[in-house]
Amino acid sequence: AKHKGKSAYAHFAPEMTEVSHERLQMESLMRRALEQKEFELYYQPIVRTESGQLCSAEALLRWNNPGMGMVMPDRFIPLAEETGLITPIGEWVLQEACLAAMRWKASTGTDIGISVNVSPRQFRDPGFVDTVMNALDASGLPPQQLELEITERLILDNTIETADILRQLDQSGIRLSVDDFGTGYSALSYLKSYPFDTLKIDKSFVQDVMKEREDASLVKAIINMAHSLGLRVIAEGVEEEAQTHFLQHEGCDYSQGYFYSRPLPENEFQQWLKTNHR
Ligand code: C2E
Ligand code: CA
Ligand code: CA
Ligand code: CA
Repeated sequence: AKHKGKSAYAHFAPEMTEVSHERLQMESLMRRALEQKEFELYYQPIVRTESGQLCSAEALLRWNNPGMGMVMPDRFIPLAEETGLITPIGEWVLQEACLAAMRWKASTGTDIGISVNVSPRQFRDPGFVDTVMNALDASGLPPQQLELEITERLILDNTIETADILRQLDQSGIRLSVDDFGTGYSALSYLKSYPFDTLKIDKSFVQDVMKEREDASLVKAIINMAHSLGLRVIAEGVEEEAQTHFLQHEGCDYSQGYFYSRPLPENEFQQWLKTNHR
């Protein structure tokens, strides 16, 4: 059956073969992507809900590959996690994000916070805390201006090490936020034992606040609970003006979403800064 070539494979496991081939190809391209400087950070403004004024930005990773074009994180972060490549990639993200915040300070004269996503594998790497400290030292960014976004899933999978790393980061002055809040298993007790500063309400709740009474109730409840625990709240995925009125009324501290701005490449973000000065 050798002469049949590809079709022989196609007979018994067409999808498996294609998928694993694509994975292998992605993996080898991703291994080279750092040195080829194919990664780029986009920045999405996070504003004060009350005034619409900018206070920080979330760094969102993009992969510009000559063959594939722009690859979005949902397509390659899971593979980067599995292969462990997320550790060096995440290190680059941290360094670049801190440097960017310093550039904005130089060009606008104001302190703009930067939020960086941290994935579980990266967080559990023994060198993680050092990597974060090095990024701060190398850039000169004050720790209070860096916020690390950690998914609820990672926290719930709680171990002594998780608690210990969070404590070390907190003690150095870095801010910590719970990303995708509400999508985990709702074991809320971690909120009182871990040093978080911020909850990011998942966009799946925010997007339906004007349509579904239940989502509106949940968002209200999350905001009230967070405030009574001394946490600030960011609503993500804000797309419509009506949602901003709802969030203002409910006292949500910060907002982020296409209504304000899409994630922007750095030059466009800098332009945005000029017109939305605090
Ligand atoms: P996330 O942390 O929940 O980031 C928010 C995602 O929502 C971003 O997608 C953003 O572009 C999108 N978004 C923002 N505003 C709106 C809106 O109004 N409506 C809708 N529908 N979407 C909105 P993106 O950039 O594709 O990133 C997807 C995910 O990839 C992120 O979800 C995050 O989990 C992960 N990711 C991105 N950059 C990094 C990174 O540097 N490191 C790690 N570990 N993960 C990253
Ligand atoms: Ca995030
Ligand atoms: Ca803290
Ligand atoms: Ca999120």
